Amino acid sequence: MANISQKYIDIAKKNYPNEPEFLQTVEEVLTSIEPVLEAHPEYEKAGLVKRLIEPERMISFRVPWVDDNGEVQVNRGYRVQFNSALGPYKGGLRFQANVYPGILKFLGFEQIFKNSLTGLPIGGGKGGSDFDPAGKSDAEVMRFCQSFITELYRHIGPNTDVPAGDMGVGGREIGYMMGQFKRITNQYDGTWTGKGTTNGGLNGRTEATGFGIVFFAREVLKHFGDSLEGKTAVVSGFGNVSWGTITKLVELGAKPITISGPDGYILDEEGITTPEKIETLLELRNSGKNICAPYVDKFPNAKFIPGKRPWEVKADLYMPCAMQNDITMDWAKEMVANGARYLIEGANMPTTNEAVQYLMENGCVVAPSKAANAGGVACSCLEMAQNAEHLIWNKERVYDELENIMVHIFKITEEACAKYDLGENLVAGANIAGFERVADAMMMQGIV
Ligand code: GLU
Repeated sequence: MANISQKYIDIAKKNYPNEPEFLQTVEEVLTSIEPVLEAHPEYEKAGLVKRLIEPERMISFRVPWVDDNGEVQVNRGYRVQFNSALGPYKGGLRFQANVYPGILKFLGFEQIFKNSLTGLPIGGGKGGSDFDPAGKSDAEVMRFCQSFITELYRHIGPNTDVPAGDMGVGGREIGYMMGQFKRITNQYDGTWTGKGTTNGGLNGRTEATGFGIVFFAREVLKHFGDSLEGKTAVVSGFGNVSWGTITKLVELGAKPITISGPDGYILDEEGITTPEKIETLLELRNSGKNICAPYVDKFPNAKFIPGKRPWEVKADLYMPCAMQNDITMDWAKEMVANGARYLIEGANMPTTNEAVQYLMENGCVVAPSKAANAGGVACSCLEMAQNAEHLIWNKERVYDELENIMVHIFKITEEACAKYDLGENLVAGANIAGFERVADAMMMQGIV
C-alpha cells in the first residue's frame, strides 16, 4: 500500500528545509494519521493534507523600541494563523531569543490538534518574537509590548485570532499588550486570554495547564489499573506549567522529586510537597534569573546537580514541563534502563520523535503533550466564553469544566486507539482524534 503521509512529509521537507522543529511535528502527526488517510480517499481528492500543512496566513513584522539607555532596538514579531476550520485562531505568544518561524510553525501546527482535542470551537495559531524579557526592566518590556501590538492589533480580535501567553509571556506582558490593544481599538473585549483576573481574566487560568496535565495523567494511570497515589515524579522546569503540575500531583497523593532550569536540576528526595517548597518555585520564577540552584539555599537536604537534566533519576512518572526536545535518545535510554513506565508530556513536543519511538517500544506509555497539556488552552476558551458573557466565573466552575475536558480528551484518545488497533500508542490515538475533527470541518468548508 502506498504511503500517503510520506508524500506530504516530503513536500514539507522540500518547502521548509530550514525549519527542523516544524518538520519534526509534521512527520510525527502525519505518520500516525496514515490509517485515517487510507480509510478516507476523499481527503486525498480534496487536497486536505496538502492544505493542512501550510499556514492560512503568516504575519511577520518589525518591532522597534527604545531601551533604558535611549538606544533603538529592533526585534522580529510574528503571528502564524495556521488553521481556522474549528474557530478563531487560538494560541499563545512566545518571547524568547531563539524564536523564528520554524518554532512558531511547530507550535502552531501542534495547536491545531491540541485545540481540536478539547472539543471546543477554537482553531490553531501561535506567535511571538525573538525578544527575551529576561533581564529587561518593566519599562522596557512595556515599550516592547506596546510596539509589538501597534502592528499586531490589526490582525487579531475576539472572533478572528485570540492570543495568550507562552514561554516569556505571562500576566505582565499580556497586561501591557491588552492595554495597548484597548487604547488603539477602543474595545474591551475577549481578544486576549491569560489576563489578570481584574482585567477580565479567568479564575484558575494560571494553574490550568499544570492541573490539566495531572488530571490527564490520572486518567492514563487509571486505564492501566494504576493510580497516582504514592508515585514519585521527575518534573522538569520551574515555571508556570511545572508549578501547576507539582501542586496538583501533591494534592492527588504523588511525590514530585525534581525541578530543573538551564543551570541544572534539583533532586529533593523528601519530595517537593510542602506549600513552602512549592511557593519557592514562584520565587525562583520571579527572580528573573532563570536558575533553579537557589532552591537548596532554602532546603539544604535537597541536592543541586549542575549542568544536567533530571531524566537520569529513577521514578514512576516522567513529566517534562520545560521546553521542546528536552528528552533526546540518550536520555530515553537511561529512562528505559531505569524501568520507565509513564512519560506524561507537559511542555510542547518535549521528546524527540526517535526517543518517543524508543520509549514506546520499551514498555513506556507516552501521554503526548497535545493531549496532556490542552487544559491551558481549553481554559483560555472558557475565558473567551466568560468575556463574551460579560460575567466572572468562579474557580470551582473552572476546575470542574477543566476536569471534564481532560477526561473527555483521554476518552477520545482511548477510543481512537481501540478503533485503529493502536494498543498503548496514545501518541497516535491523540493525533488521530485531533485530526478527525479538523478534517471533518475542513471537508465541509470546501477548498479554502
Ligand atoms: N501557550 C499555551 C499552549 O501551548 C496556551 C495557549 C492559549 O491559551 O491560547 O497551549
